[in-house]
Amino acid sequence: MIARWLRWFGAHSAPAPIPDEAWRGLLTSSKLFTRLDDGGRERLRALAARFLARKRFSAAGGHVLDDAQRLAIAALASLTVLHLDERWLDGWREVIVYPGEFRVKREHHDEASGVVTEGDDELIGEAWERGPLILSWADVATDLAQPFDGFNVVVHEVAHKLDMLEGAADGVPRLPPRIARREWIAAMQAAYDALCRAVDRGRNTLIDPYAAESTDEFFAVVSELHFSDPALLRRAAPEVAALLSRYYDGESAAA
Ligand SMILES: [Zn+2]
Repeated sequence: MIARWLRWFGAHSAPAPIPDEAWRGLLTSSKLFTRLDDGGRERLRALAARFLARKRFSAAGGHVLDDAQRLAIAALASLTVLHLDERWLDGWREVIVYPGEFRVKREHHDEASGVVTEGDDELIGEAWERGPLILSWADVATDLAQPFDGFNVVVHEVAHKLDMLEGAADGVPRLPPRIARREWIAAMQAAYDALCRAVDRGRNTLIDPYAAESTDEFFAVVSELHFSDPALLRRAAPEVAALLSRYYDGESAAA
């Protein structure tokens, strides 16, 4: 195991740069990338090359995976760490891509009754602690074509990955020194509680009610909004919007 690991890192110490043509193709594929300034684009290019060198992509469910798709997924994942530590995307290797929604078997263990129920779930993305990142290409493609509609499956799943760097997912990801843990918890918990109350009362909420499932889903969903509909996030939860700007964009002062 250790020998394989060392060989992997040795072989990938200097990631191959992304060819100009492939990079231009990516930039024209989505406004998510063209809105970055020159410095941001160059850094994203280096991060995406690093991601491609360190991850093993595989197709599932009959999907045909090509280099442009690999690059798009690498760039979307790398957007999250543009102003964080790129090593925060390490610790796992597999990216599995399905053509569309995929079905997984779920086991639910009811603590009270002791009953284990098995069921099927339709998913568009899934992230395992130290395990694979699993994606529906159809949904990634929609995110590229409609980047500001409030959804981004790669950002959502990578947010779970950042969350799981600190043990089980709980909505508190690894934080940069510019953000204090207690400050993070205070802002997120208040907004999460407010969303849960609104959902319980059957109100329409700006934030997808799915975010009320748990604090880790809340973090993943507001991360999607940060990248894909920040104006809505500022209206729905201004403190969370300011916190995520400092987290993902590196802005040092609270807005
Ligand atoms: Zn999730």
